[in-house]
Amino acid sequence: MVRKIHTTTGSDVLDSFFKSNREWAEKVTSSAPDYFKNLSKGQSPEVLWIGCSDSRVCVEIFTQADPGQIFIHRNIANRVSAEDHAAQSVIEFAVKHLGVKHIVVAGHTCCGGVKGAMSKESLGMLDHWLKPIKELYENNKEEIDGLTTDTDKEYRLCELNVVNSVNNIATLPPVQAAWEEGRSLTIHGMIFQIENGLLKDLDISISEK
Ligand SMILES: [Zn+2]
Repeated sequence: MVRKIHTTTGSDVLDSFFKSNREWAEKVTSSAPDYFKNLSKGQSPEVLWIGCSDSRVCVEIFTQADPGQIFIHRNIANRVSAEDHAAQSVIEFAVKHLGVKHIVVAGHTCCGGVKGAMSKESLGMLDHWLKPIKELYENNKEEIDGLTTDTDKEYRLCELNVVNSVNNIATLPPVQAAWEEGRSLTIHGMIFQIENGLLKDLDISISEK
């Protein structure tokens, strides 16, 4: 099969991204000529952020963080498990090599992954990925189903999923090793509320073995 090679993106949205990108780079360079030169020297973020892939949940925008401040991993429904090599690699690199001081697991309201985990409908490949969240739902079904609205039910499962990820991270070898070495490392659980743009701390932080 011969693939057709395009010399342009052929997409209005991607063309607009290129245009915006050029404008942004020019604007940044005109106010700080060495900005990109300095940025290219390396990174030393203090925060590892594990969030959902949802297109509405843009951590650098809602925290107004600068490039270089947050090391980011995203997947559907901000899951962390020992079998996920991508998440494990990110966590090990962030803790061991970048020396981050905080790991934030952030869920969000209106999460399609959480909704999917509560649904009986088959979602193909996603069924396997969401299985641990489905199990969380089953294990807490009485409490969750006792809540009045679907929004409340989804929010509670979202919270439980964040708590689960935070607890899983605390057991990981690079995290345990950092604590054994006496390094400052705290794992936090948060929820980004799409309805009002506010980030909520669940106050479930863990900072020692
Ligand atoms: Zn989500």
